[in-house]
Amino acid sequence: MTSALLPTYARAPIAFERGEGAWLVTRDGERYLDFGAGIAVNALGHAHPHLVEALTTQAQKLWHTSNLFEIPEGERLGRRLVDATFADVAFFANSGAEANEAAIKMARKYHAAGGHPERFRIVTFEGAFHGRTLATIAAGGQQKYIDGFGPKVDGFDQVPFGDHDALVAAIGPETAALMIEPIQGEGGIRTVPTEMLRGLRALCDEHGLLLIMDEVQTGVGRTGRLFAHEWAGVTPDIMSAAKGIGGGFPLGVCLATAEAARGMTAGSHGTTFGGNPLAMAVGNAVLDVVLADGFLDHVLRMGLLLKQRLGAVIDRHPGVISEIRGTGLILGLKLGVPNTAFTAAARDERLLVIPAGDNVVRLLPPLIVSEAEVAEAVERLDATAGRLGAQMRGAAE
Ligand SMILES: *Cc1c(COP(=O)(O)O)cnc(C)c1O
Repeated sequence: MTSALLPTYARAPIAFERGEGAWLVTRDGERYLDFGAGIAVNALGHAHPHLVEALTTQAQKLWHTSNLFEIPEGERLGRRLVDATFADVAFFANSGAEANEAAIKMARKYHAAGGHPERFRIVTFEGAFHGRTLATIAAGGQQKYIDGFGPKVDGFDQVPFGDHDALVAAIGPETAALMIEPIQGEGGIRTVPTEMLRGLRALCDEHGLLLIMDEVQTGVGRTGRLFAHEWAGVTPDIMSAAKGIGGGFPLGVCLATAEAARGMTAGSHGTTFGGNPLAMAVGNAVLDVVLADGFLDHVLRMGLLLKQRLGAVIDRHPGVISEIRGTGLILGLKLGVPNTAFTAAARDERLLVIPAGDNVVRLLPPLIVSEAEVAEAVERLDATAGRLGAQMRGAAE
């Protein structure tokens, strides 16, 4: 039977029935090691007892009230995020794209409130991904997401990644902000060098621009710090987060300094579902775990272990995997075979990985992954690379 769903995804022919930590289980009881974590969403793995408890307890009390009333769990989550970051205020949404929409609107409103409504343009970087709404596809600048959807939303200027001169040239009297992922996720785990982030901060300060960081994929412990920009010691004015922050419950947030948010007064922006009690209960539960002593150290240790062991896999299969990129538990393998073929072959080894741009596959295990699971994943990656390597040699003969 054909599917009744809009065919916007080429789905793998597998359906999972349940999950346990870093594992997903099909109805037939086949177990897959999940090194995709729902594209960096299931930060605490599947069916984490603390999250299940938080969600079910809240579900029995109250689901939704609208933002016309106070939501104490949201006040609490906002306070905790603010206390843990550069930010003074938080706006909750349901997704990464919505968090970015809030960030974009906030940056424009900041200048409008300062008497410069003509400053609405935002400079973004090639290879970026900021979501699939009309504004965020324009921000991401990828033609394959823009084509066919009518006039591109105005106000986004894109420059090549790492081209400082092009960046400086793109800044003009209408520029409001720069927007960047500290590590490009969909773009292929391309890390922005610390020097470049510092340079962006300096440019923003010099020209009165806001620095927006999209930490939708890199945030909430993924790199071994709460947010990836902490590694560089560079703080944004506005930051979006989503994916891992709800541990699988749809949740996004736009965090900002009070100064950057100066234009966002009552009625200037809104959302029906954003910040509802279910999402806030789960968001707080995720933070309980991620902010606990030693949790980020665990992420770092597992990331280092994974990277180290992968070094040996590359040595054995240099034609299949040529490079490891990334930090903590957001790693990318640059491939010499098509990443779609690698993803399918890994699936045959019962290992889930995620393709990305630049012919990379992403390894994004749940942050609670154990040493034994890291070792298991490395074995399965080694087997995957071995099989693809043998196929390559077969084809060459
Ligand atoms: C996934 C992602 C988004 C979009 O998030 P959605 O929840 O799919 O809207 C935006 N930015 C980055 C960096 C992402 O990885």
